[in-house]
Amino acid sequence: MIDFLFLDKNICYNCKKNEIVAHFLCKDCLKKLDYVANKFSIENYDCHAVYFYNEVMRKLIADYKFNRNTSLAKVFSSIVYDYARINNLFDCDYILPSPSSKSTLNNRGFDHIKMITDHFIDDVACEYLMDFRKIKNTQAQHNLGKEDRALNLIDAFSIEKDLTEKSVLLIDDLITTGNTAMEIIKVLEKNNVKEVIVLAITSERRIN
Ligand SMILES: [Zn+2]
Repeated sequence: MIDFLFLDKNICYNCKKNEIVAHFLCKDCLKKLDYVANKFSIENYDCHAVYFYNEVMRKLIADYKFNRNTSLAKVFSSIVYDYARINNLFDCDYILPSPSSKSTLNNRGFDHIKMITDHFIDDVACEYLMDFRKIKNTQAQHNLGKEDRALNLIDAFSIEKDLTEKSVLLIDDLITTGNTAMEIIKVLEKNNVKEVIVLAITSERRIN
């Protein structure tokens, strides 16, 4: 029994079969992920996406968010932490995990991006941007047409804090059109933010 317990700790968090190689995943599962390290911009703001949103990544995120497989937070945390550290993205004042609305939090039972960043927040020099809230319960962006996507997000976010000379690293799981990130950035701009960089675990865009 003791041997089994010990062994479990080294077993891939996704397939639960093979030994862990990196990010709590095995060699086979890592191979199925499409590492792109894409850099692009959304209205002049630098944006990074670590993986392409392929079928395996889609299932992994769905398992985490909708099936509440919260152990996967460690997988995503390791991915985000390594990427941000290598690319010096932690050289900022604040980290902002993309916020969920109160009703999403109540339904899901956990704050899915913050659960990822909670794993490393004590190990980095920057701190959380507190009191940034999602005040409107929006529909999932990918279920909407282009115009509805923009309308859906109007006045969705809020914070009242002077961000003059401050830089923010915004972290999200998936970047689709960039509308959500931009809506968050607009609110930060209203509070005089100096710089915002976006880091997404995965993106539906693929550059190269
Ligand atoms: Zn595996």
